Amino acid sequence: MAGPSASDVIAAIGTAPGRGGIGIVRVSGKRLEQLASRLLGGVPAPRLAVRATFRGAAGEPIDDGIALFFAAPASYTGEDVLELQGHGGPVVLQMILRRCVELGARLAEPGEFTRRAFLNDKLDLAQAEGVADLIDAATEAAARCALRSLRGEFSEVIGNLAKRLVELRTLVEATLDFPEEEIDRVDREDAHGRLRDLQEAVRHALARGRQGSVLRSGLQVVLAGQPNVGKSSLLNRLAGEDLAIVTEIPGTTRDAVRQTVQIEGVPLNIIDTAGLRDTADKVEAIGIARTWEAIERADAMLLIVDAREGVTAADVAIVERLPRKLKPVTVFNKIDLSGDAPRAEEDEQGWRIHVSARTGEGLDALRRALLALAGWQAGGEDVFMARERHLVSLERVAQALERAGQTMPQSELFAEELRLAQRELGSITGEFSADDLLGQIFARFCVGK
Ligand code: GDP
Repeated sequence: MAGPSASDVIAAIGTAPGRGGIGIVRVSGKRLEQLASRLLGGVPAPRLAVRATFRGAAGEPIDDGIALFFAAPASYTGEDVLELQGHGGPVVLQMILRRCVELGARLAEPGEFTRRAFLNDKLDLAQAEGVADLIDAATEAAARCALRSLRGEFSEVIGNLAKRLVELRTLVEATLDFPEEEIDRVDREDAHGRLRDLQEAVRHALARGRQGSVLRSGLQVVLAGQPNVGKSSLLNRLAGEDLAIVTEIPGTTRDAVRQTVQIEGVPLNIIDTAGLRDTADKVEAIGIARTWEAIERADAMLLIVDAREGVTAADVAIVERLPRKLKPVTVFNKIDLSGDAPRAEEDEQGWRIHVSARTGEGLDALRRALLALAGWQAGGEDVFMARERHLVSLERVAQALERAGQTMPQSELFAEELRLAQRELGSITGEFSADDLLGQIFARFCVGK
């Protein structure tokens, strides 16, 4: 499917729905002078905040506010952009938006402003994804990481890899063009050396990206345990003062997630098994079905038991219904009452951790175990907010380079693998990307961005 028409003037409310001090309607298109002068009585000087009255068809005032005009190409989208800052009420903003539509704009689709920015080379695809990830970030660490992608740090690393690939291709293809000539041994070694360096750089980028993907989607944890063993107390302790802000996490159903806590900025989405029971109630049954779907996609299971009783028959009954692939963490809580020492052990059965939600003993070990399960390594300041598709591409690059390494630099195959690797890198930043990929990426944006 082709994208929405890129020649229309588009408009949307850019601020979140609800009441607020100010609200912003954004308009973008090829020529906005006419729309601006009919709405504001004149075209504001570019990049200057201008006090203006926004007016209806009969000249009646709709709102008093600030107008900002960005003339193409120096704007977010690369087109003319008009930002109308009015009073932040849903009705008045709707009136301003409707007036823009009357003047020839159409309502923007989700992410359409950013899509235009991408199409007009204002940012590449990885940066555009950074915009959405920043808006969706559930923790401060995720937000910082998304901002780095948005500012182009990730793209720069990818661009640098691509540049080195091109250099290597040039070197190799030169020898392909002159097959009869004596192949310089130095060149051949140089090609292999460069290939090895490149492989190392790709591995490094992949490692940083995998960490970012942990920050982005976190760990899906199924919570099980009998009433009163201390599940809520433990979650509250884990959450500490930094409650994560719950956003729609791809692949999870929001209503199945009871709570999101964060550890070192890594979000843990807790899926509660408490409500799982047979029921005749249709609405409840839908909720339960969703919880089971979330459980199917989860990574780990947190089974909380009372240290004085250990794992009971009722716990076993629940655990047996859960998918076997879930990595189990059994938490023996209330060691202040049982007299056990805090400790953490890991074996084939998973983690067994003794803690007290009351005194806090053993909680650091629990945090470390959960971070280890999420695949998070401490530090992590230079991670990228990579998405699954970036990781898949980087893995393909690594595989192509690996295959290249198994042939002689003077072979057609070597050159072909390098060409494939370069193409794969280009798909990350959107140099080569199909319309349907763009559709998928931008459809997840909010309207007005
Ligand atoms: P849930 O039903 O599993 O969510 O359990 P709660 O978190 O509501 O805890 C049940 C009761 O156990 C509450 O009175 C808590 O204060 C108490 N409790 C929870 N954890 C501990 C602990 O580590 N030590 C002690 N002594 N009491 C605890």
